[in-house]
Amino acid sequence: MSLKQIKTDTGLARQLSAILESGKVVHAFLIAGGSPQRRSELGNEFAKALLCPEIPGDSCGKCLSCRKFDDGNHEDFIRIVRMDGKQSILSEQVEGLRSRLKFKPAGEKYVVLIEDAGSMNAISQNKLLKCLEEPLSETVMILLASGRDELLQTVVSRCSAYYIDGDYEDDEELRSMAAAFLRQSGQGAPYYKKKASIEPLLQKGEESRQRASAFADALEAECLEQLKRGGDDRTLFAAAEAAAELRKQIEQGHNVLYSLKQLCLKA
Ligand SMILES: [Zn+2]
Repeated sequence: MSLKQIKTDTGLARQLSAILESGKVVHAFLIAGGSPQRRSELGNEFAKALLCPEIPGDSCGKCLSCRKFDDGNHEDFIRIVRMDGKQSILSEQVEGLRSRLKFKPAGEKYVVLIEDAGSMNAISQNKLLKCLEEPLSETVMILLASGRDELLQTVVSRCSAYYIDGDYEDDEELRSMAAAFLRQSGQGAPYYKKKASIEPLLQKGEESRQRASAFADALEAECLEQLKRGGDDRTLFAAAEAAAELRKQIEQGHNVLYSLKQLCLKA
């Protein structure tokens, strides 16, 4: 298993992979939403990819780092979970983490994965905040929580946050929106008509970012489908290219509304 092989949250896995490829890795990530299993899968694969020196943007599964990770004995990977029978991560566990981070990692950096970060009480979270504020060694922390409101605002603000918002992969609505968009585009419709066909996407907020990214996937998939069925090459290639560009812009943090309007102009 690797980040790019994740089946359930492909959009988010790809975003995380793109961050690794770009080299713009920050000190702390928050992955929120979805089920505990899905968060854990994403968090673990992201951690493994962060540590693997072989493939930019993913883990190779073969190198020493990956093998140690899979065997559960990677010296630079620190995984913090609730102890058996406990309702929350204990503040002693966070203290232990702080002391450990005072020592240099064996390799380039520590990767810390805190599962159930949302279960920490305010005292533990404040201790964790100290680690986030003054990273003692090269450290990347990944916090998993069911929602951002489980964490103190001061902790959230230190993290680059990502949300699992349901599985849009097979979202019928997005596919039919993509088909409608392509119809307009194939007919050479004016900008405002193409824009109208994707109206539900034109919203602000973090969810719209993921939705727009999922739409880019749906549009690309629809282009491929239509190409196979012998659709007009030029329109479809242009649309597929614009969809890829849309996804790239969203991953790079561009304004979603602006990026979607660009799509309407280009495709
Ligand atoms: Zn590897």
